[in-house]
Amino acid sequence: MKLLIMGPPGAGKGTQAEGLVKEFSLVHVSTGDMFREAIKAGTEMGKRAKEYMDKGELVPDEVVVGMVNERLSQDDCQEKGFLLDGFPRTLPQAIALDEAIEALKINLNGVINIDVPRERLMARLTGRRICRNCGSSYHILFNPPQQEGKCDNCGGELYQRSDDNEEAVSNRLDVYENQTQPLIEYYIQKKLLKNINGDQEINKVLTEVITSIKTTSNISDYDDSLPSCC
Ligand code: ADP
Ligand code: AMP
Repeated sequence: MKLLIMGPPGAGKGTQAEGLVKEFSLVHVSTGDMFREAIKAGTEMGKRAKEYMDKGELVPDEVVVGMVNERLSQDDCQEKGFLLDGFPRTLPQAIALDEAIEALKINLNGVINIDVPRERLMARLTGRRICRNCGSSYHILFNPPQQEGKCDNCGGELYQRSDDNEEAVSNRLDVYENQTQPLIEYYIQKKLLKNINGDQEINKVLTEVITSIKTTSNISDYDDSLPSCC
């Protein structure tokens, strides 16, 4: 199965992706995570991306498209399928993705849009904490770890992303509205969009997303016999 998860920054894409990749045994391909890994590794691409990310701007299309095309052609994505998170974010990226999936002779099965009103997003993002080791996402109030500052899954240290400050978040929300939100119509036209209310408790959102995937006819290459553990 090949899926996209969309929504504004802070909608809960990463949080839901954690549950979805387990449920459907997919590879999680998050462009934001890939850039953060490149920054950590000190690569040239990471250094270039950081300049845009810290200001809440988008990394240029040609950089992101090249990175995603390479990732999707790798064996694990081909064999298990994937959940793309944070890509595409512009119309040229969506067109490039269509070209890439045509070249790979695969289809997109669905696009999950997590819908959350803008006024909820600032508090979600400024209170977000991420595990330095495994990338799990927490919130100091809405989804706190059992032990402050420590990841429940792996015990890793939790940190605050450098772009989760008020100024960068405000810019990211404007960028989303201007450049990414129009893609909702793009995927409605392709009859792929599944709209989910993300302004509900985390597990309720997950249940609705899973139900929507399992009950939608064009998301049909899901094998019910697969265990949900791997
Ligand atoms: P995204 O990947 O869309 O930017 P995240 O999944 O990282 O968003 O979630 C942003 C923040 O909001 C995190 O701190 C997360 O714990 C919190 N969060 C996610 N889903 C919900 C929800 N349904 N209700 C309240 N807080 C949420
Ligand atoms: P995210 O982790 O999805 O919130 O992304 C963090 C930052 O990485 C964004 O604010 C952008 O600067 C950059 N980024 C991630 N994905 C993309 C993309 N598809 N296009 C351009 N920039 C991106």
